[in-house]
Amino acid sequence: MACTNSANNRIVSIDVECMATGFTHEDRAPCSVALVDTHEAMVLLNIDLNAQNGHLATEDARASILLYLQYKDNARDLIDARRRLLNTRPRTTPAKANNYKYEGVCLSAYSANLCTCGRPIRGDD
Ligand SMILES: [Zn+2]
Repeated sequence: MACTNSANNRIVSIDVECMATGFTHEDRAPCSVALVDTHEAMVLLNIDLNAQNGHLATEDARASILLYLQYKDNARDLIDARRRLLNTRPRTTPAKANNYKYEGVCLSAYSANLCTCGRPIRGDD
């Protein structure tokens, strides 16, 4: 996800989701891209940010924008939000919940111990 502040001070967020195109953790391709600005997404791209079917890039990007707008001018609330995040244990990721393999697709790009496809591990360069 990337956020930029354009010349006219409008915020643009881009979120890209990928899907498995094979069985190794390297076999991924972009499948969903969202350019987020509610009005522009609907008018220019016909993307409804309120769609609720599965994991959508639009929902991720929408949440990113909402968080940005909530905290961009409120340093005190941002400090409190960071504290709450640090004190809240993250939920189990879908990859971990499925023991890093789902429908034959390796989900372990960062741990050789959990990788089942044998492709190079990211971060070992
Ligand atoms: Zn793997």
